[in-house]
Amino acid sequence: MRRVATAADLALQVMRARFAGKRIGFVPTMGALHEGHLALIDLAKEHCDFVVASIFVNPLQFGRGEDFKRYPRGLEADAKALERAGCDVLFAPTVEDIYPGGKPRVTHRAGRVAELFEGKARPGHFDGMLTVVARLFELVQPDLAVFGTKDAQQLFLVRKLARDLAAERVGADGGQEIEILPAPTIRDVDGLALSSRNRFLSLAGRRQATVLFKALAAAERVARGGAGVQGALFAANTVLAEVPEAKLDYLAVVSEESFLPVPEDFRGEARMLIAVVLENVRLIDNASIRF
Ligand code: AMP
Repeated sequence: MRRVATAADLALQVMRARFAGKRIGFVPTMGALHEGHLALIDLAKEHCDFVVASIFVNPLQFGRGEDFKRYPRGLEADAKALERAGCDVLFAPTVEDIYPGGKPRVTHRAGRVAELFEGKARPGHFDGMLTVVARLFELVQPDLAVFGTKDAQQLFLVRKLARDLAAERVGADGGQEIEILPAPTIRDVDGLALSSRNRFLSLAGRRQATVLFKALAAAERVARGGAGVQGALFAANTVLAEVPEAKLDYLAVVSEESFLPVPEDFRGEARMLIAVVLENVRLIDNASIRF
């Protein structure tokens, strides 16, 4: 695996792969890698011949008072894990490489959906996320990029970004759209979705954190038994109430097409979203549920 930090070194590696006729896959991360991230690399390798992973803790997507400073970093361990996973290039740029002069040249606005759920709790987060993803796409120029379903709202917005970027480029190079491949959420044996932030939980907090998965499972169960959206929300709420230390931020069922809440009489596939704050750690999870 090659490790590169600058845009020029990255471009060289990607160009070589492209000349060799390889299909290029991209996995953007903020590092502190766990099995969830490595599953994204595996998936990229299944679909591509050349995989680039990036590690960049993007200051733009952290709000004031958020955990940018304490966000876990461990480049050496991450590089070893990526190498073992068969990644071809690790792009680990500095802020200056991504935003020359300290500011993004082009910023992206995430729009209305970004004001809900994670966006409501973290103003500016999705603008910052889309701005860095667009910049990384510009640098890597992948054919395909893999994003985790764990961050469902991010995935929804990145899909829209890929469509918008292709539409902007129509005429330039035919508007070839970057394929966005969703990856399933990797969980611990007790159901807790893996997250770089789980390490901030105490032993007791770690146990309590399973309440997100348990709430989703309860909702899925009652939906399978014929309960509608309200019934599923009630079931999830009941489970969440058993752990009052997990302060509920939002619980909702949204449409896969619009990411807006579905009506009570909705039938079909929708996504239940949960966010809590436990021991000062923000935890999110979601599941697809058939009603
Ligand atoms: P992050 O480093 O947290 O920005 O995450 C990088 C990518 O890994 C994003 O596409 C996430 O959705 C994805 N990801 C994070 N946690 C998991 C998980 N437990 N399972 C699968 N993908 C994940």
